Amino acid sequence: NVVSLSSTTISKDKLLDGLLVSSFDEASCFSRYRSYLYRKTSPHKPSKYLISKLRNYEHLHRSCGPSTKFYNKIMRKGTKFNKIDVSTKCKYLVWTAANGLGNRIVTLVAAFLYAILTDRVLLVKFGADMSGLFCEPFPDSSWLLSRSFPYWKDQKHIETYENILNNFKDTVFHHLGRYLLHPSNEAWEIIRKFYEAHLARANERIGVQIRLFNTHRPPHQTVINEIVSCTLQHKLLPDFNAQKSVVSPLKKTSKAVLVASLFSEYGEKLKTMYQTNKTVTREVIRVYQPSHEERQKSNDDMHNIKAWTEIYLLSLCDALVTSPKSTFGYVAHSLGGLKPWILKRAYNETIPDPPCRHAKSMEPCFHYPPKYDCRDNSTVDFTSLFHYMKHCEDVSGGLKLV
Ligand code: GDP
Repeated sequence: NVVSLSSTTISKDKLLDGLLVSSFDEASCFSRYRSYLYRKTSPHKPSKYLISKLRNYEHLHRSCGPSTKFYNKIMRKGTKFNKIDVSTKCKYLVWTAANGLGNRIVTLVAAFLYAILTDRVLLVKFGADMSGLFCEPFPDSSWLLSRSFPYWKDQKHIETYENILNNFKDTVFHHLGRYLLHPSNEAWEIIRKFYEAHLARANERIGVQIRLFNTHRPPHQTVINEIVSCTLQHKLLPDFNAQKSVVSPLKKTSKAVLVASLFSEYGEKLKTMYQTNKTVTREVIRVYQPSHEERQKSNDDMHNIKAWTEIYLLSLCDALVTSPKSTFGYVAHSLGGLKPWILKRAYNETIPDPPCRHAKSMEPCFHYPPKYDCRDNSTVDFTSLFHYMKHCEDVSGGLKLV
């Protein structure tokens, strides 16, 4: 029966193949059940094991999270954390913010993985700069650490944990990120409007993320030329037509290029290039840049909303070109389930050859992994011990799951 078949497909798609549960109030978080309408179905299916771990986690969070008896007890001032019985079923992991939004999201998902694997309840300490970005991810509970937490300001008493990488499939961030990170209604409204106005009608959406660190800024034009060279080599965008006299019929297809950068020059230059030159395929290429904040302001709520909506819009693209060593880009490609083309770092006017390299996996890169082997009292290359770990394309000393 066609009707029931299609409704099963819708609910399967809507719940991201079982990653999400259906019990949330839809209006409290539109993005949770509607984001599937804005991107292609992920070819990566979550395993039954992951889904059962998530359901168990939700149960644990409901039993130990905010407003439960045990939670209220530990929230009371004077509770000595090191005196809490370690055998209790309620153990907690508190996430706190550092650096920009990409770094924050990568560590948040890593902390969630650690919480799931060690049966801890994840609580997030969100200040005003983070509180308007995401919906509550866990049913019938909250993940927000309350401001009445006795050590909100003074964290000395809390045991801290190094985030760990674990042996999964290369879809760890992809699934956990899609489970955990739903744009708030405010952020979703910005994403939805931008997507529908500029990206929805294009036949293909190419995201370009340009992140330059303060210490190193090659000329704008070099970066533009590098991007053009990368998109051309890998057939993401067509070449320009040098023979102006040859007129081939206009192609009906169009491509939208979404540029994310702190600087307006990139979007403007790329837009001018595709407006003033015809392409060999005669496809229409439209370039959009949602914002240009000029500098990083990570403690500003509106600035973070822009960053989050751009990360998310990039994740809705069909292909991505990203900058090296940027967690902002990692979150976008992992959420999108995409292996990006990572640009090589340019140092002067010379375009690097090759201009970009295809990522080996969808996982983020861990930039500064431990290198010390305690047993041998020597440094060790962990890729030699774990076959599922490789050095990153963009940070040679970094590690990523493949
Ligand atoms: P990373 O430093 O590239 O690893 O990424 P982070 O996200 O941790 O820090 C960069 C921060 O700079 C972002 O969170 C934003 O606040 C800002 N930023 C950098 N690039 C962009 C961009 O393309 N768009 C917007 N809106 N903000 C950006």
